[in-house]
Amino acid sequence: MGLENFNRKSRVSLFDKLASQEWDILIIGGGITGASIFRDAVMRGMNACLVEGRDFASGTSSASSQLVHGGLRYIKTGDLKTVWESCHERDLLLRLNPALVKPMKFVIPVYDGTSMLSLRFGLFLYELLSGFHTKKHARISKEEMLDIAKVRSHKLVGGLAYWDAWCTDSRLTLETIKDGVHRGGIAINHAMVTSLVKNDGRITCAKITDHLTGHKYKFKANIIVNATGPSVDVVRKMDDPKAKSIVRLSSGVHLVFNADEIPLKETLVFKSHYDGRQMFFIKRPDGKVILGTTDYETKRAPLDPCPDGTAMLGSAYNDLLLIHTGIKQAEQQYVYSGFRPLVRTNGSVGDASRGEHIEISDSGLVTIVGGKLTIARRMAQKLLDKIDYANRWKPCATEKTPLLFGRKAAPNSIEYVCQHEMACTIEDIVERRMEPLRWRKNILHTLPHKRICKSMGIGHKEYDRQKESYKKHFKRYHQPDSWHMDEA
Ligand SMILES: Cc1cc2nc3c(=O)[nH]c(=O)nc-3n(C[C@H](O)[C@H](O)[C@H](O)COP(=O)(O)OP(=O)(O)OC[C@H]3O[C@@H](n4cnc5c(N)ncnc54)[C@H](O)[C@@H]3O)c2cc1C
Repeated sequence: MGLENFNRKSRVSLFDKLASQEWDILIIGGGITGASIFRDAVMRGMNACLVEGRDFASGTSSASSQLVHGGLRYIKTGDLKTVWESCHERDLLLRLNPALVKPMKFVIPVYDGTSMLSLRFGLFLYELLSGFHTKKHARISKEEMLDIAKVRSHKLVGGLAYWDAWCTDSRLTLETIKDGVHRGGIAINHAMVTSLVKNDGRITCAKITDHLTGHKYKFKANIIVNATGPSVDVVRKMDDPKAKSIVRLSSGVHLVFNADEIPLKETLVFKSHYDGRQMFFIKRPDGKVILGTTDYETKRAPLDPCPDGTAMLGSAYNDLLLIHTGIKQAEQQYVYSGFRPLVRTNGSVGDASRGEHIEISDSGLVTIVGGKLTIARRMAQKLLDKIDYANRWKPCATEKTPLLFGRKAAPNSIEYVCQHEMACTIEDIVERRMEPLRWRKNILHTLPHKRICKSMGIGHKEYDRQKESYKKHFKRYHQPDSWHMDEA
């Protein structure tokens, strides 16, 4: 159906099409993992569809640190395979999709008592594992370090600079889905899978509720993939109520500031005073600075990543004090929080593997979980290679093919995102489609509501209902304790 019909107005015909045929593959979950499987499957020639219960990328895939990185900290733990794989994927994304993934310089302040030599050796290894595709790391003097960030100067001996990359996670996810839709797949959001239906012991069909209308559907497919991130256990239990849990959820909170309030010239890497964990002050070229992140186990419902854990937030504030100047004036603009779906192992969540896990149940449900945004393309390739044991489809081609809008950014107007990116609500527009509107308080004041109504095909009553719903959402998930969103 293509991007021409990738919009709210076409949903009835999209649902009809989805319910009227048997699909080669149905992917549940529109985060980066499901998006990457969807696109890869379409490119292999499969008749593929994807269903997302809320909005595309509304889960962990819009709550990450937004880094496309090799995972420098895994050099320390000796997990060189993970580093090699992630560096390879980072370099691939940089090369294929330069409009979406861009290089970023990172700076580590070094204090007396830390061996500069061993840090440099670690960075050399990092560059070696990426085949020296990135710029070489460099030593910086104490004066240069203090010019980059007003870090504690006592016992500061200098710093080290190295290169990784950044992206906007929800944009990368959306562009991956759009590429699959452009090539002939069908993806639909606000469509929640509520149960799975079996026939002779095999899963053959998923029951779906359209959250915008309440209508219910059944989609038939030969292969059903569970790529629901933090919710994988919920979907596994639809298949087998006795299934043992395979994930632990680790909560990660980020604070967003306006860059002009934080005296920082490059992205800073430092250790948290609270738990010794590696933290980042990410200096984004879009005028924002992100402070993150926490990493602690949570028992919250997988679809409710509310930024609790005030102790951890307090620790983030303390870390913020590392930068002396301007701190008191720096006002948090926004908070966001997400759950890492980590494959269940013993030990602390901080040490848990970031590798992926793929399993196929007796009734044929294929589940994938874990991994990182950076390696999602490769995870999709592994999953589809694994289930195509009879070599029925074309081989994977994603390693060589840029995304449709990977080299040149897609248009970014209200009209475009409503008509070609399936934006169905105010929240979809503000949080995951229009970057200039993201991470801002009082945004409802400035929205062009007539244009939104016209582009989405909704009336003023529905607009007002959505506005109220978004206010509640904002208050629960994105409002720092320090201020209250003004009435719009
Ligand atoms: C704090 C934090 C920081 C991170 N930083 C980085 C980083 O800098 N770099 C990096 O590479 N990785 C990072 N990650 C990891 C990365 O964000 C995740 O690995 C990735 O986003 C997981 O994507 P996913 O598609 O598996 O899950 P999700 O993005 O959560 O997608 C799952 C989707 O399934 C949907 N769903 C659930 N149940 C149903 C159902 N019944 N029916 C239909 N749909 C359903 C959900 O709504 C959701 O959209 C970070 C993670 C966290 C939490």
